[in-house]
Amino acid sequence: MDRRTFLKTSLAGTALAAAAPASLLGGCAESKPAGEPTPLRLSFQENTAPGETLTEKLDFMEANGIVGFEPGGRGLAERVPELQQLLRGRNIQVSAICAGFSGFILAEDPAVRAEFDRTMKEIIAAAGELGSTGVIMVPAFNKQLPVMPHNADTRAYLVEQLALLGEYALGHGTTVILEPLNRSEAFYLRQVADAASICRDTACEGVCCMGDFWHMTAEETSDYGALYSGGPYLRHVHVASRGKRRMPGEDGELDNYVEGFRALKQMNYPYYVSFECGSTGDRAQTVPVALELLRSQWEQA
Ligand code: MG
Repeated sequence: MDRRTFLKTSLAGTALAAAAPASLLGGCAESKPAGEPTPLRLSFQENTAPGETLTEKLDFMEANGIVGFEPGGRGLAERVPELQQLLRGRNIQVSAICAGFSGFILAEDPAVRAEFDRTMKEIIAAAGELGSTGVIMVPAFNKQLPVMPHNADTRAYLVEQLALLGEYALGHGTTVILEPLNRSEAFYLRQVADAASICRDTACEGVCCMGDFWHMTAEETSDYGALYSGGPYLRHVHVASRGKRRMPGEDGELDNYVEGFRALKQMNYPYYVSFECGSTGDRAQTVPVALELLRSQWEQA
């Protein structure tokens, strides 16, 4: 180990020791009064519900007890007034914003990183106006090249940059949410515990993480362990069927979420479980079946 690496390592250790107690106390999660059962707060992305227009989809969601809406981030700034108007008077909040930025944070090319920073900040500001819990991001998809090497220096760079972005998000009343994916999409970040440890090391409450049951199926050895490891940094959850990423229930026996739900209940997880999936059937039928399945598994958990 050369002096530079040693200094970096020691500094990281010191920062961590100083930061850990504060971020573990506060963290990304807000606590809920003890003793009340944790509700399952379900959310849909824009394409989840049946319906021709967004109004029809939101009507369906409201009639079916869906309390969260997760729009895509692309062009979000221009859609803020429209979305605010569509959600006014409804019992539906913006749960999270699904990506939508250009460029990526771990690009080798500074111009690509700058493009990420500019577009991500635009989405964060719009997310804040919409009262979103956060904006979902991935550090680097496999197809995004050239990318910084997968090593300790890159991780340190990511932590440093995320802390800045997290501060910016906090200034807009929202957060950034790291999403671990499966290896075929993004080798860099694949497990909830790894994402949570990056959040912790930023020592910034504006940097959170999430779990996606679809990706977890490929990468995690335990749904319970994975979601529990998100701890106070866990801000969002995605759900889909576990064989073909359709509506929960479309893959039969594979679609078991009980262990993951048990972790969320034990953590008093206060945020959303949001559908991110397609459907092979008629959504007017497959969506209510999925809701019934998830609600009964939540009871069981
Ligand atoms: Mg996802």
